[in-house]
Parts: sequence; structure tokens; C-alpha cells
Amino acid sequence: MSRFELTVWGARGSIPAPAAVNTRYGSDTSCVELRCGERVIFLDAGTGIVAAGRKLYEEKRVDDFDVLLTHCHFDHVMGLPFLIPLYKDHVSARIFAGHLLDGTTCRNMVARFMCPPYFPVTPKQFAAKIGYRDFRPPDEIDLGDGICVKTFRLNHPNGAVGYRVDFDGRSLCYITDTEHEVGTIDPALVEFIAGAEVMIYDSTYTDEDFARYVGFGHSTWQQGVRLCRAAGVERFVAFHHDVSRTDGWLERLEAEMRAVFPGAYVASTGLTLSV
Ligand SMILES: [Zn+2]
Ligand SMILES: [Zn+2]
Repeated sequence: MSRFELTVWGARGSIPAPAAVNTRYGSDTSCVELRCGERVIFLDAGTGIVAAGRKLYEEKRVDDFDVLLTHCHFDHVMGLPFLIPLYKDHVSARIFAGHLLDGTTCRNMVARFMCPPYFPVTPKQFAAKIGYRDFRPPDEIDLGDGICVKTFRLNHPNGAVGYRVDFDGRSLCYITDTEHEVGTIDPALVEFIAGAEVMIYDSTYTDEDFARYVGFGHSTWQQGVRLCRAAGVERFVAFHHDVSRTDGWLERLEAEMRAVFPGAYVASTGLTLSV
């Protein structure tokens, strides 16, 4: 069986949360690294991708990778300008975006936030060979080497895309940022994630506090569990933690989730799972 593994490099949502009370689950924003055989895929480029990129660079073996962006809110792209391999001329990378609703391209989107006076370095200073790729959900993306990526439009302000990565007979779903409608389970999303080995899901809120955050574009861990049950997914990773969630709070969450769904994990920087 080929290697198919996920590593969480950043599990926070909205903004980094560096504090002594957040050392166990981590402070960096959204980034998950996948290894599919010899291939490397990053899901989102939040601050977590900075350490991931440094490790990739130090490994020396990998000089080619893909970045699949869910969308370009800051917490999902702010690590991109600090991704060391993009400044190396022997590296090839592809960056995918499919959430843009206003006709902007992936290339323009990156150029618009890596631009003075917001940031002194522009994408012209990347030395790597970068392919900017646009798509529209539900397009399927063939990454080669048997890696097939399915895409799904999520319910989020300014748009976002959910991904299903199929490789070697197994599947991982990455579903963040998205808002559910209370009391319903989206049948299209259930079909999209059906039978996957693992789902990483937007668990910014809880069912108990959700009423205050309707319209913010996020979901709850309980909705993630309901989706997993409906779709026959056995492992669930709660992701995109609110900045207020301390280690103690997240530890209690993990125990609470496991009591109702044994295959539940709370995403933390460094969490690695075989798919
Ligand atoms: Zn986010
Ligand atoms: Zn967002």
C-alpha cells in the first residue's frame, strides 16, 4: 500500500493564537500537508505552511509540490509569501484556486495581496517555476501519479472550496470554511464525502454557541460528526479552532467528541495520521 499521510501544520482559524495556553494544539493558521507516495500537497497556506516549507527545503529530496487553496481569506494564505521553496529556482509548484467569484484569477489574487504597501515582496520575486491554476467546482483535478482531486463549493462569505483527495483506493476530505444550516444535513456534501477514510472539518464553533455566529461562515464539531455518520466516514478531525480555544478547552473537547464518536481527533500542529 502506498504512503498516504496527513500532517497538520496549522489548525487555527481567522488569526494566529500564540500564547502559553495554546502550546499543545498550536497557534498557526490553516495548513495541512499530504504525502501521497512521493508527492507533496499542501491544503491551504496559512502561517502553518512556513514551518512546513522550511522542513521541505531542509529535506532536499522534494522540489515539486502543489498548493490547494480553499479560499484567500488571510488565515489561509498569509504563509505563502514566507514559503521558502518558492524562492528557489530548482523548485516547481502549482497553486490552485477555485473560489474566486468575481473573475479574478489565482495569479491576480496572489499578486493583489503580495503587493506594496501591504507587503514589500511581489510574486515576481519567486524564483520557482509556479503554475497558477484556476478551476470551478465541481471540476475534478488530475494531479498525476494516481492522485485525483474532487472539488465542492462551500457556503462561506466570498466563497470557499472543499476538497476530496483520492489516492491508492483511499480518500481524505478537507472541508473548511463552511456554514451549515441548523437542523439540516446537506445531501450533496454527504455524497461528496461518502466513504472517505478521514474528514477534516470546520469546527470553529459548537452547537451550543452557534446561534450567536450565524452568518459568520463556519460550522460546529457536532455537524461534522453528523456528516461523518451520514456518509460512513469513520475518522473525523475537528479543525479551524477559534482563537479563544485554549489547550484545556480543546482537551475537554477531544474527550467529549470521543465519547460520542470514537474516531474523532482535535487537530493540533504536528498531528499525523495515515489515511
Ligand atoms: Zn478561515
Ligand atoms: Zn474564510
